[in-house]
Formats: sequence, structure tokens, C-alpha cells
Amino acid sequence: MAAPAGPTRLAYFDDMWALRAPAAVLSVHQEEGGRRAVVLDATIFHPQGGGQPADTGVIVSAARFLVEDVRVKDGVVFHYGRFEDADGEELSQGQSVSMEIDADRRKLNSRLHSAGHLLDSCMTNLGLHMEPGKGYHFPDGPFVEYKGVVPTDQLQDTKIQLEKEANELISKGAKVLVSVFPYEEAAKLCGGALPSYISEDSTPRIVKFGDCPGCPCGGTHVADITDIGNLKVTNIRVKKGVTKVSYSISP
Ligand SMILES: [Zn+2]
Repeated sequence: MAAPAGPTRLAYFDDMWALRAPAAVLSVHQEEGGRRAVVLDATIFHPQGGGQPADTGVIVSAARFLVEDVRVKDGVVFHYGRFEDADGEELSQGQSVSMEIDADRRKLNSRLHSAGHLLDSCMTNLGLHMEPGKGYHFPDGPFVEYKGVVPTDQLQDTKIQLEKEANELISKGAKVLVSVFPYEEAAKLCGGALPSYISEDSTPRIVKFGDCPGCPCGGTHVADITDIGNLKVTNIRVKKGVTKVSYSISP
């Protein structure tokens, strides 16, 4: 079958709330180990990346393709999985399908991702102006790293203050804005400047909580930060010039 022609349209970029949407099959191929990879013209499945796990779900036509993992390579999104009925009908090129996402898993991933970004705002509010580095928003031990050092004798107090600030913001609530903007406008929303890895030719996607400064992000989020639920800062430690803040959210 022909290789996918171009990048997959990321439908979740514009509409994070769609848990079901139509698409067309561009290709289906067999991977090593027997699993299949389905490429569609557009997808609402969030591929693993940006610190967020992949969505799971099902791609439905006459056949049901169970999506177990989603990855993106050179702009093409690959839905990996297997057909529910191994001996039944398969998907074919050009076929119309319906994508359905596992809503519970998506909701948890969105809450965890939003919680990570909320910690950025809390750091700033505590006067700790450190650039966020790596974010890991998986359920098994999420954390955010900041470029900079909190003095050792202030770590315990910072941990307590961060958690307090986060839960105060959560209980107040704030609408979450996620959208694609022209570069200049995006920079303005993010406090005047964007990180250097964002190209000036691009139209960055920005996530912004209420009046807090925005941040470039490709992930999925809650609609209002109250949906995060209770946030706990489980650990804070400093290593090699980086402050790592680990957190959890109540189920
Ligand atoms: Zn993000």
C-alpha cells in the first residue's frame, strides 16, 4: 500500500474535546511482531509526546481496529494496534472510519498535563522565575523540571508553598484557553517572549490558564483548572542545576 503522502492533520489541536470524529484511511501496514499501523488523513488521537501519553481507543468501520499506542514520526501519526476480529474484515485505503477515544484515559492525561502547567504558574507566583524544562505528565510519577536551583534549606518550605498555591488556584478556578496564534500574538500571551525552540515562522499553539501567562504546548487540557482536582507536591529535589518537582492528583 502507498506510503502516507503528507503530515496527518492534528484535529485535537483545534478541538481537544472531540472524543469521536470521522476520518479516512490513508494506509494500513503490518509492523514487525504482527501489530498493524493505521494512518488516517486526520486524527483526534493524541500521540505520545510532549510529556503526555498516547490516547487509546478504536477505529471503526465494518472492522474494529483497537488502538493500543499512537506515535508521530515526521508529522505522520501512526495508530498501532490490532483488529478485534483477527479473521474478520480489515480497513482499506480510502475507507471512511469513525475514531473513538477512551474518554477516561484522555481525561486523566489532560488533568495531569494541566496540573504540570499549573505548577509553572505557581513557581512564578512564588517568585521562582525558572524556565520549565522537561515535563513528564504520565500517571506513574509525573514531574516538571525547572532550569535553576532552589536552595536546599528552602526546599521543604517551597514544596509546601507550591502545593498551597496550586490548590488555591484550583479552588478559585480559571478557564483554560488553548489555541493556535500568529507568532507575535503568541509571544504576547506568553509574557512577551517565546522559548528559542519555537520558530518565528511558526504559528505556535498556546495554553493559558485565566490571567496567568501562557506557554507553548501541543497537548490536551482540562476546560477549567478546577477539573484538575486536588494537587499534591510529592517531592522536590535539586540535581545538576535543575529543580525537579514531582506531583500527583487525586483520582
Ligand atoms: Zn504542555
